[in-house]
Amino acid sequence: MNATHEMIQVINLRKKFGRLVALDGVNLTVRRGQVIVIIGPSGSGKSTLLRCINHLETPTEGEIWIERQKITGNQRQLNAIRSQIGMVFQHFNLYPHLTVLENVTLAQRIVRKIPKSQAEAIAMHHLERVGIADKARFYPAQLSGGQQQRVAIARALAQDPKIMLFDEPTSALDPEMIKEVLDVMLNLAEEGITMVVVTHEMGFARAAADEVIFMDYGKIIERATPEVFFSQPAHERSRAFLSQIL
Ligand code: ADP
Ligand code: MG
Repeated sequence: MNATHEMIQVINLRKKFGRLVALDGVNLTVRRGQVIVIIGPSGSGKSTLLRCINHLETPTEGEIWIERQKITGNQRQLNAIRSQIGMVFQHFNLYPHLTVLENVTLAQRIVRKIPKSQAEAIAMHHLERVGIADKARFYPAQLSGGQQQRVAIARALAQDPKIMLFDEPTSALDPEMIKEVLDVMLNLAEEGITMVVVTHEMGFARAAADEVIFMDYGKIIERATPEVFFSQPAHERSRAFLSQIL
């Protein structure tokens, strides 16, 4: 594969919290347009991996490259690099005192200094993309959890990121709201956005993932297409995990 197609490269990444080894030598390449789903038990290092890619955590050792830019040890460019990566969390973290529209325009207006009318036009475009433009003037508390999470996705998209990271985006939602969020994510996957998604939604993994990665104890144990991973997982620990959640 041509090197220019590599969107994310993680090389021998280690992350320690005190004596605890959260990531223990992770190597990962994500190509442009790929959708990678990461699964694994609680505490296996999934969130820490995403947070290192986004530089919310500083790696103890190893390198991370976004396209051909090395982000580890590149403090000066940190904000520029971070703005290329959209992140969606389990908890949507919308500002309660701002409307939906204000939540989505905030970063553009403050960080990117885009004029209000232009920022609003961009925001409305992305709110339409996630099917929630009609709620632009509402406050977060007036929306369901699924709607709030779609707003959070629109907010990330409004930064025009090269990569979208999702950390258990449906785990805090009531069951009936999970599908509306997964459907939005499926659409983004089909549009060819590079995505790394931590989720327990195996239906999403089967439908959207180019590859599934199974992590345990801070390591990538297995990496395979969903077809192979779900029908014939190679490792004992992957099999044990799947038997618990399927
Ligand atoms: P996962 O997302 O797979 O559940 P995490 O990446 O959140 O796992 O955590 C991996 C390990 O690192 C866990 O043992 C967790 O307790 C620990 N950890 C994560 N963040 C911190 C932190 N900020 N300080 C100390 N330990 C942490
Ligand atoms: Mg986590």
